[in-house]
Amino acid sequence: AHVDRIAQVDADVHAFLHVAGEAALARAEEIDRARAAGEALGPLAGVPVAIKDVLCTSDMPSTAASKILEGWIPPYDATPVARLRAAGLVPLGKTNMDEFAMGSSTEYSAYGPTRNPWDLTRIPGGSGGGSAAAVAAFEAPLALGSDTGGSIRQPAAVTGTVGVKPTYGGVSRFGAIALASSLDQVGPVSRSVLDAALVHDVIGGHDPLDATSLEGPWPSMADAAREGAASGSLAGVRVGVVKELNGSGFQAGVRQRFGEALKAMADAGAEIVEVEAPHFEYAISAYYLILPAEASSNLAKYDAVRFGLRVDPGGATTEQMMALTREAGFGPEVKRRIILGTYALSAGYYDAYYGSAQQVRTLVQRDFAAAFAQADVLVSPSTPTTAFPFGSKTADPLEMYLNDVTTIPANLAGVPGMGLPIGLAPEDGLPVGLQIMAPAREDARLYRVGAVVE
Ligand code: GLN
Repeated sequence: AHVDRIAQVDADVHAFLHVAGEAALARAEEIDRARAAGEALGPLAGVPVAIKDVLCTSDMPSTAASKILEGWIPPYDATPVARLRAAGLVPLGKTNMDEFAMGSSTEYSAYGPTRNPWDLTRIPGGSGGGSAAAVAAFEAPLALGSDTGGSIRQPAAVTGTVGVKPTYGGVSRFGAIALASSLDQVGPVSRSVLDAALVHDVIGGHDPLDATSLEGPWPSMADAAREGAASGSLAGVRVGVVKELNGSGFQAGVRQRFGEALKAMADAGAEIVEVEAPHFEYAISAYYLILPAEASSNLAKYDAVRFGLRVDPGGATTEQMMALTREAGFGPEVKRRIILGTYALSAGYYDAYYGSAQQVRTLVQRDFAAAFAQADVLVSPSTPTTAFPFGSKTADPLEMYLNDVTTIPANLAGVPGMGLPIGLAPEDGLPVGLQIMAPAREDARLYRVGAVVE
Protein backbone atom coordinates (compact mmCIF):
# COMPACT_ATOMS: atom_id res chain seq x y z
CA ALA A 1 0.00 0.00 0.00
CA HIS A 2 2.83 2.40 0.83
CA VAL A 3 4.72 1.64 -2.37
CA ASP A 4 1.48 2.37 -4.28
CA ARG A 5 0.90 5.55 -2.33
CA ILE A 6 4.42 6.74 -3.16
CA ALA A 7 3.75 6.06 -6.85
CA GLN A 8 0.53 8.07 -6.55
CA VAL A 9 1.65 11.18 -4.74
CA ASP A 10 5.42 11.48 -4.77
CA ALA A 11 5.60 13.20 -8.15
CA ASP A 12 3.91 16.11 -6.34
CA VAL A 13 5.41 15.80 -2.86
CA HIS A 14 8.94 14.66 -3.82
CA ALA A 15 9.65 13.27 -0.37
CA PHE A 16 11.90 10.52 -1.76
CA LEU A 17 15.27 10.64 -3.51
CA HIS A 18 15.28 6.86 -3.90
CA VAL A 19 12.41 4.37 -3.61
CA ALA A 20 13.34 0.80 -2.66
CA GLY A 21 10.26 -0.57 -4.49
CA GLU A 22 10.87 -4.22 -5.36
CA ALA A 23 13.42 -4.70 -2.58
CA ALA A 24 10.91 -3.41 -0.02
CA LEU A 25 8.18 -5.71 -1.32
CA ALA A 26 10.52 -8.72 -1.28
CA ARG A 27 11.57 -7.97 2.29
CA ALA A 28 7.94 -7.56 3.38
CA GLU A 29 7.12 -10.96 1.90
CA GLU A 30 10.07 -12.47 3.75
CA ILE A 31 8.72 -11.10 7.03
CA ASP A 32 5.25 -12.45 6.18
CA ARG A 33 6.71 -15.90 5.61
CA ALA A 34 8.62 -15.73 8.89
CA ARG A 35 5.44 -14.76 10.69
CA ALA A 36 3.51 -17.58 9.06
CA ALA A 37 6.26 -19.98 10.13
CA GLY A 38 5.70 -18.90 13.73
CA GLU A 39 8.99 -17.04 14.18
CA ALA A 40 9.06 -14.66 17.14
CA LEU A 41 8.98 -11.15 15.66
CA GLY A 42 9.19 -7.73 17.29
CA PRO A 43 6.21 -5.35 17.43
CA LEU A 44 7.36 -3.39 14.36
CA ALA A 45 8.30 -6.35 12.15
CA GLY A 46 7.00 -5.78 8.62
CA VAL A 47 6.31 -2.08 9.18
CA PRO A 48 7.74 0.14 6.43
CA VAL A 49 10.08 2.98 7.31
CA ALA A 50 11.53 5.85 5.27
CA ILE A 51 15.17 6.75 5.87
CA LYS A 52 16.64 10.25 5.64
CA ASP A 53 19.35 10.29 2.99
CA VAL A 54 21.91 11.42 5.58
CA LEU A 55 22.02 7.84 6.90
CA CYS A 56 24.23 5.26 5.23
CA THR A 57 22.43 2.32 3.67
CA SER A 58 24.39 -0.54 2.11
CA ASP A 59 21.73 -1.25 -0.54
CA MET A 60 20.64 2.28 -1.53
CA PRO A 61 22.47 5.45 -2.56
CA SER A 62 23.26 7.76 0.35
CA THR A 63 23.88 11.26 -0.90
CA ALA A 64 22.85 13.66 1.89
CA ALA A 65 21.09 15.37 -1.05
CA SER A 66 24.45 16.55 -2.40
CA LYS A 67 25.86 16.27 -5.91
CA ILE A 68 29.22 15.43 -4.39
CA LEU A 69 27.82 12.05 -3.25
CA GLU A 70 25.54 11.40 -6.23
CA GLY A 71 25.05 7.65 -6.67
CA TRP A 72 27.32 6.73 -3.75
CA ILE A 73 26.38 3.43 -2.11
CA PRO A 74 28.12 3.03 1.26
CA PRO A 75 29.74 -0.28 2.22
CA TYR A 76 27.71 -0.50 5.45
CA ASP A 77 24.46 0.46 7.18
CA ALA A 78 24.27 3.21 9.78
CA THR A 79 23.62 1.64 13.20
CA PRO A 80 20.03 3.00 13.48
CA VAL A 81 19.28 1.52 10.05
CA ALA A 82 20.90 -1.81 10.93
CA ARG A 83 18.83 -1.97 14.12
CA LEU A 84 15.60 -1.23 12.25
CA ARG A 85 16.39 -3.97 9.75
CA ALA A 86 17.21 -6.42 12.55
CA ALA A 87 13.84 -5.63 14.14
CA GLY A 88 12.13 -6.52 10.84
CA LEU A 89 11.23 -3.03 9.66
CA VAL A 90 11.22 -2.60 5.90
CA PRO A 91 13.14 0.37 4.45
CA LEU A 92 10.98 2.02 1.79
CA GLY A 93 13.61 4.36 0.44
CA LYS A 94 15.69 7.45 1.13
CA THR A 95 14.14 10.82 1.84
CA ASN A 96 15.00 14.27 0.59
CA MET A 97 16.69 16.87 2.74
CA ASP A 98 18.67 20.08 2.61
CA GLU A 99 22.17 19.33 1.32
CA PHE A 100 24.24 17.88 4.20
CA ALA A 101 21.32 18.77 6.51
CA MET A 102 22.01 22.49 6.23
CA GLY A 103 18.72 24.31 6.07
CA SER A 104 15.18 24.66 7.35
CA SER A 105 13.09 24.20 4.21
CA THR A 106 14.53 21.41 2.00
CA GLU A 107 15.03 24.12 -0.64
CA TYR A 108 18.79 23.51 -0.43
CA SER A 109 18.55 19.92 -1.69
CA ALA A 110 20.65 19.51 -4.83
CA TYR A 111 17.79 17.40 -6.24
CA GLY A 112 14.91 19.88 -5.94
CA PRO A 113 12.70 20.68 -2.95
CA THR A 114 10.14 18.54 -1.16
CA ARG A 115 6.66 20.06 -1.02
CA ASN A 116 4.47 20.24 2.07
CA PRO A 117 1.53 17.80 1.65
CA TRP A 118 -0.75 20.29 3.45
CA ASP A 119 -0.08 22.96 0.83
CA LEU A 120 2.18 22.18 -2.12
CA THR A 121 3.23 25.84 -2.43
CA ARG A 122 4.86 25.71 0.99
CA ILE A 123 8.01 24.23 2.47
CA PRO A 124 7.88 20.99 4.50
CA GLY A 125 10.54 22.24 6.88
CA GLY A 126 14.13 21.12 6.93
CA SER A 127 16.53 19.76 6.83
CA GLY A 128 14.46 16.58 7.13
CA GLY A 129 11.53 17.79 5.02
CA GLY A 130 11.42 14.54 3.07
CA SER A 131 10.98 12.30 6.11
CA ALA A 132 8.28 14.53 7.61
CA ALA A 133 6.43 14.96 4.30
CA ALA A 134 6.54 11.20 3.63
CA VAL A 135 4.91 10.51 6.99
CA ALA A 136 2.40 13.38 6.66
CA ALA A 137 1.42 12.26 3.13
CA PHE A 138 0.88 8.65 4.26
CA GLU A 139 3.75 7.48 2.03
CA ALA A 140 5.37 5.97 5.11
CA PRO A 141 4.06 5.36 8.64
CA LEU A 142 7.50 5.93 10.17
CA ALA A 143 10.73 7.65 9.23
CA LEU A 144 14.19 8.39 10.53
CA GLY A 145 15.57 11.90 10.66
CA SER A 146 18.60 13.69 12.06
CA ASP A 147 18.50 16.78 14.21
CA THR A 148 21.49 19.08 14.56
CA GLY A 149 19.59 22.29 15.21
CA GLY A 150 15.96 21.26 14.75
CA SER A 151 15.86 19.19 11.56
CA ILE A 152 13.50 16.60 13.07
CA ARG A 153 11.34 18.86 15.27
CA GLN A 154 10.84 21.77 12.87
CA PRO A 155 9.71 19.64 9.88
CA ALA A 156 7.44 17.72 12.27
CA ALA A 157 5.87 20.99 13.40
CA VAL A 158 5.07 22.28 9.93
CA THR A 159 3.76 18.94 8.63
CA GLY A 160 1.64 17.97 11.65
CA THR A 161 3.79 14.97 12.58
CA VAL A 162 5.65 13.82 15.70
CA GLY A 163 9.44 14.08 15.76
CA VAL A 164 11.97 13.42 18.48
CA LYS A 165 15.58 14.48 18.97
CA PRO A 166 16.95 12.08 21.58
CA THR A 167 19.47 12.97 24.28
CA TYR A 168 22.89 13.50 22.68
CA GLY A 169 24.52 10.07 22.74
CA GLY A 170 21.23 8.24 23.14
CA VAL A 171 21.13 7.02 19.54
CA SER A 172 24.23 5.99 17.64
CA ARG A 173 25.65 8.39 15.07
CA PHE A 174 27.65 5.60 13.42
CA GLY A 175 26.95 5.81 9.70
CA ALA A 176 25.15 9.13 9.93
CA ILE A 177 26.88 11.45 7.45
CA ALA A 178 28.27 14.05 9.84
CA LEU A 179 27.19 17.68 9.83
CA ALA A 180 28.29 18.92 13.27
CA SER A 181 29.39 16.00 15.40
CA SER A 182 28.80 17.62 18.80
CA LEU A 183 25.19 18.46 17.86
CA ASP A 184 23.94 15.69 15.51
CA GLN A 185 21.38 13.15 16.78
CA VAL A 186 19.29 10.61 14.86
CA GLY A 187 15.65 10.19 15.83
CA PRO A 188 12.14 9.09 14.82
CA VAL A 189 9.37 10.79 12.83
CA SER A 190 5.85 9.38 13.07
CA ARG A 191 2.15 10.19 13.27
CA SER A 192 1.77 9.38 16.97
CA VAL A 193 3.81 9.62 20.15
CA LEU A 194 3.64 5.85 20.72
CA ASP A 195 4.88 5.14 17.19
CA ALA A 196 7.89 7.40 17.76
CA ALA A 197 8.56 5.66 21.09
CA LEU A 198 8.52 2.22 19.46
CA VAL A 199 11.11 3.35 16.90
CA HIS A 200 13.20 5.04 19.61
CA ASP A 201 13.32 1.78 21.58
CA VAL A 202 14.65 -0.04 18.50
CA ILE A 203 17.32 2.47 17.42
CA GLY A 204 18.44 3.69 20.85
CA GLY A 205 21.00 2.34 23.30
CA HIS A 206 24.74 1.96 23.49
CA ASP A 207 26.78 1.38 20.35
CA PRO A 208 30.51 0.69 20.69
CA LEU A 209 30.97 2.01 17.15
CA ASP A 210 30.11 5.57 18.27
CA ALA A 211 32.60 7.02 20.75
CA THR A 212 29.98 9.49 22.05
CA SER A 213 27.32 6.83 22.61
CA LEU A 214 26.01 6.76 26.19
CA GLU A 215 26.02 3.57 28.23
CA GLY A 216 22.65 2.12 29.19
CA PRO A 217 20.32 1.18 30.63
CA TRP A 218 17.45 3.14 29.10
CA PRO A 219 13.84 2.72 30.14
CA SER A 220 11.26 1.69 27.53
CA MET A 221 9.98 4.78 25.71
CA ALA A 222 6.93 2.81 24.56
CA ASP A 223 6.01 1.96 28.15
CA ALA A 224 6.28 5.64 29.06
CA ALA A 225 4.00 6.61 26.15
CA ARG A 226 1.46 3.91 27.04
CA GLU A 227 1.52 4.97 30.68
CA GLY A 228 0.85 8.60 29.74
CA ALA A 229 -1.95 7.70 27.36
CA ALA A 230 -3.59 5.36 29.90
CA SER A 231 -3.47 7.80 32.83
CA GLY A 232 -4.20 10.98 30.88
CA SER A 233 -2.85 12.77 33.91
CA LEU A 234 -0.08 15.30 34.41
CA ALA A 235 -0.62 15.52 38.16
CA GLY A 236 2.66 16.40 39.87
CA VAL A 237 4.36 17.43 36.61
CA ARG A 238 5.87 20.91 36.58
CA VAL A 239 5.70 22.31 33.04
CA GLY A 240 8.08 25.21 32.48
CA VAL A 241 7.15 27.77 29.85
CA VAL A 242 10.35 29.27 28.50
CA LYS A 243 9.75 33.01 28.44
CA GLU A 244 12.37 33.62 25.74
CA LEU A 245 10.84 31.05 23.36
CA ASN A 246 7.35 32.50 23.24
CA GLY A 247 8.08 36.00 22.04
CA SER A 248 6.04 38.60 20.27
CA GLY A 249 7.63 37.71 16.93
CA PHE A 250 5.64 34.47 16.90
CA GLN A 251 2.65 34.05 14.57
CA ALA A 252 -0.70 34.76 16.28
CA GLY A 253 -2.20 31.35 15.49
CA VAL A 254 0.93 29.60 16.79
CA ARG A 255 0.67 31.49 20.07
CA GLN A 256 -3.04 30.76 20.29
CA ARG A 257 -2.62 26.99 19.89
CA PHE A 258 0.33 27.04 22.26
CA GLY A 259 -1.82 28.80 24.88
CA GLU A 260 -4.54 26.20 24.42
CA ALA A 261 -2.01 23.38 24.82
CA LEU A 262 -0.84 24.93 28.10
CA LYS A 263 -4.44 25.11 29.28
CA ALA A 264 -4.98 21.45 28.35
CA MET A 265 -1.87 20.48 30.32
CA ALA A 266 -3.06 22.49 33.32
CA ASP A 267 -6.47 20.80 33.03
CA ALA A 268 -4.69 17.44 33.08
CA GLY A 269 -3.17 18.41 36.42
CA ALA A 270 0.17 19.96 35.43
CA GLU A 271 1.59 22.87 37.35
CA ILE A 272 2.51 25.56 34.79
CA VAL A 273 5.48 27.72 35.76
CA GLU A 274 7.29 30.40 33.82
CA VAL A 275 11.03 29.92 33.56
CA GLU A 276 13.72 32.23 32.27
CA ALA A 277 16.59 31.30 30.00
CA PRO A 278 18.38 34.61 29.52
CA HIS A 279 21.11 33.22 27.25
CA PHE A 280 18.83 31.49 24.74
CA GLU A 281 18.77 34.69 22.70
CA TYR A 282 22.47 34.11 21.92
CA ALA A 283 22.00 30.45 21.04
CA ILE A 284 21.50 31.02 17.30
CA SER A 285 24.64 33.15 17.06
CA ALA A 286 26.71 30.56 18.91
CA TYR A 287 25.21 27.70 16.88
CA TYR A 288 26.00 29.37 13.55
CA LEU A 289 29.66 29.52 14.55
CA ILE A 290 29.95 26.07 16.15
CA LEU A 291 28.04 24.29 13.37
CA PRO A 292 30.00 25.76 10.43
CA ALA A 293 33.27 25.19 12.32
CA GLU A 294 32.53 21.49 12.81
CA ALA A 295 30.97 21.16 9.35
CA SER A 296 33.97 22.68 7.61
CA SER A 297 36.13 20.02 9.24
CA ASN A 298 33.69 17.15 8.62
CA LEU A 299 33.27 18.09 4.96
CA ALA A 300 37.00 18.20 4.28
CA LYS A 301 36.83 14.49 3.44
CA TYR A 302 34.97 15.19 0.16
CA ASP A 303 38.24 15.67 -1.62
CA ALA A 304 37.71 13.91 -4.96
CA VAL A 305 40.24 11.28 -3.91
CA ARG A 306 38.64 8.97 -1.37
CA PHE A 307 35.08 8.75 -2.65
CA GLY A 308 32.28 10.69 -4.27
CA LEU A 309 32.45 13.07 -7.19
CA ARG A 310 35.74 13.67 -9.04
CA VAL A 311 36.11 16.47 -11.55
CA ASP A 312 39.40 15.81 -13.30
CA PRO A 313 39.93 17.65 -16.57
CA GLY A 314 43.30 15.91 -17.06
CA GLY A 315 46.62 17.63 -16.56
CA ALA A 316 45.39 19.30 -13.37
CA THR A 317 47.29 19.14 -10.10
CA THR A 318 45.68 17.25 -7.20
CA GLU A 319 44.91 20.55 -5.56
CA GLN A 320 43.21 21.88 -8.70
CA MET A 321 41.20 18.65 -8.98
CA MET A 322 40.02 19.01 -5.39
CA ALA A 323 39.05 22.64 -5.92
CA LEU A 324 37.16 21.91 -9.15
CA THR A 325 35.35 18.99 -7.52
CA ARG A 326 34.27 20.94 -4.46
CA GLU A 327 33.28 23.89 -6.63
CA ALA A 328 31.03 21.67 -8.75
CA GLY A 329 29.83 19.30 -6.02
CA PHE A 330 28.75 21.60 -3.19
CA GLY A 331 25.76 23.93 -3.32
CA PRO A 332 25.84 27.59 -2.24
CA GLU A 333 24.65 27.05 1.37
CA VAL A 334 27.29 24.37 1.94
CA LYS A 335 30.01 26.61 0.56
CA ARG A 336 28.77 29.50 2.69
CA ARG A 337 29.08 27.41 5.86
CA ILE A 338 32.48 25.97 4.95
CA ILE A 339 33.81 29.48 4.41
CA LEU A 340 32.21 30.69 7.65
CA GLY A 341 33.59 27.71 9.58
CA THR A 342 37.13 27.86 8.27
CA TYR A 343 37.19 31.59 8.96
CA ALA A 344 35.93 31.13 12.52
CA LEU A 345 38.58 28.48 13.15
CA SER A 346 41.51 30.34 11.63
CA ALA A 347 44.42 31.58 13.73
CA GLY A 348 43.72 35.01 15.13
CA TYR A 349 39.94 34.57 14.99
CA TYR A 350 39.59 31.28 16.81
CA ASP A 351 39.29 32.75 20.31
CA ALA A 352 37.08 35.63 19.26
CA TYR A 353 34.56 33.49 17.35
CA TYR A 354 34.76 29.78 18.04
CA GLY A 355 36.01 30.28 21.61
CA SER A 356 33.26 32.78 22.45
CA ALA A 357 30.62 30.56 20.90
CA GLN A 358 31.72 27.65 23.09
CA GLN A 359 31.42 29.89 26.16
CA VAL A 360 27.90 30.88 25.15
CA ARG A 361 27.15 27.18 24.76
CA THR A 362 28.09 26.68 28.41
CA LEU A 363 25.81 29.55 29.43
CA VAL A 364 22.92 27.95 27.52
CA GLN A 365 23.61 24.67 29.31
CA ARG A 366 23.51 26.49 32.65
CA ASP A 367 20.19 28.11 31.71
CA PHE A 368 18.80 24.64 31.11
CA ALA A 369 20.13 23.40 34.46
CA ALA A 370 18.50 26.33 36.27
CA ALA A 371 15.23 25.87 34.39
CA PHE A 372 15.12 22.14 35.09
CA ALA A 373 15.54 22.90 38.79
CA GLN A 374 12.12 24.57 38.56
CA ALA A 375 10.37 22.35 36.04
CA ASP A 376 10.27 18.68 34.99
CA VAL A 377 9.81 19.53 31.31
CA LEU A 378 10.13 22.75 29.35
CA VAL A 379 7.74 23.73 26.58
CA SER A 380 7.58 26.20 23.72
CA PRO A 381 6.05 26.40 20.27
CA SER A 382 8.18 24.14 18.01
CA THR A 383 8.58 26.96 15.49
CA PRO A 384 7.76 30.68 15.38
CA THR A 385 5.50 30.28 12.32
CA THR A 386 3.64 27.67 10.31
CA ALA A 387 5.06 26.43 6.97
CA PHE A 388 6.27 29.37 4.90
CA PRO A 389 5.98 29.71 1.09
CA PHE A 390 8.85 28.59 -1.16
CA GLY A 391 11.41 31.28 -1.81
CA SER A 392 10.37 33.46 1.09
CA LYS A 393 13.60 32.96 3.05
CA THR A 394 16.20 31.94 0.47
CA ALA A 395 17.22 35.48 -0.47
CA ASP A 396 18.59 36.22 3.01
CA PRO A 397 20.40 33.34 4.76
CA LEU A 398 19.94 35.04 8.14
CA GLU A 399 16.15 34.90 7.74
CA MET A 400 16.40 31.14 7.28
CA TYR A 401 18.69 30.80 10.31
CA LEU A 402 16.28 32.71 12.57
CA ASN A 403 13.64 30.04 12.02
CA ASP A 404 15.64 27.77 14.35
CA VAL A 405 15.35 30.01 17.41
CA THR A 406 13.22 27.52 19.35
CA THR A 407 14.98 24.29 18.49
CA ILE A 408 18.70 25.12 18.66
CA PRO A 409 19.09 25.47 22.46
CA ALA A 410 18.33 21.76 23.01
CA ASN A 411 21.11 20.76 20.58
CA LEU A 412 23.63 23.06 22.24
CA ALA A 413 22.87 21.47 25.60
CA GLY A 414 22.42 17.89 24.36
CA VAL A 415 18.98 17.57 25.95
CA PRO A 416 16.13 15.66 24.31
CA GLY A 417 13.23 17.40 22.57
CA MET A 418 9.95 16.32 21.02
CA GLY A 419 7.74 18.14 18.55
CA LEU A 420 4.11 17.12 18.30
CA PRO A 421 1.04 18.56 16.57
CA ILE A 422 -1.39 20.74 18.55
CA GLY A 423 -3.89 21.76 15.88
CA LEU A 424 -4.02 24.12 12.94
CA ALA A 425 -3.42 27.86 12.96
CA PRO A 426 -6.78 29.60 12.39
CA GLU A 427 -5.35 32.17 9.97
CA ASP A 428 -3.86 29.71 7.45
CA GLY A 429 -5.14 26.25 8.38
CA LEU A 430 -1.60 24.88 8.70
CA PRO A 431 -0.22 22.64 11.47
CA VAL A 432 1.27 24.06 14.66
CA GLY A 433 3.76 22.15 16.80
CA LEU A 434 4.45 21.99 20.52
CA GLN A 435 8.04 21.41 21.63
CA ILE A 436 8.66 19.53 24.88
CA MET A 437 12.18 19.33 26.30
CA ALA A 438 13.49 17.23 29.18
CA PRO A 439 16.82 16.90 31.00
CA ALA A 440 19.49 14.70 29.40
CA ARG A 441 18.67 10.98 29.66
CA GLU A 442 15.06 11.75 30.57
CA ASP A 443 13.71 11.06 27.08
CA ALA A 444 11.01 8.83 28.56
CA ARG A 445 9.51 11.91 30.19
CA LEU A 446 8.90 13.40 26.73
CA TYR A 447 6.92 10.35 25.68
CA ARG A 448 4.93 10.22 28.90
CA VAL A 449 3.96 13.91 28.74
CA GLY A 450 3.58 13.90 24.95
CA ALA A 451 1.12 11.00 25.09
CA VAL A 452 -1.06 12.98 27.51
CA VAL A 453 -1.00 16.13 25.35
CA GLU A 454 -1.62 14.24 22.08
N1 GLN B 1 18.07 24.46 10.22
C1 GLN B 1 19.25 24.15 10.96
C2 GLN B 1 20.47 24.40 10.13
O1 GLN B 1 20.31 24.82 9.03
C3 GLN B 1 19.17 22.74 11.47
C4 GLN B 1 19.84 21.74 10.67
C5 GLN B 1 19.74 20.35 11.23
O2 GLN B 1 19.17 20.13 12.31
N2 GLN B 1 20.33 19.42 10.54
O3 GLN B 1 21.57 24.20 10.54
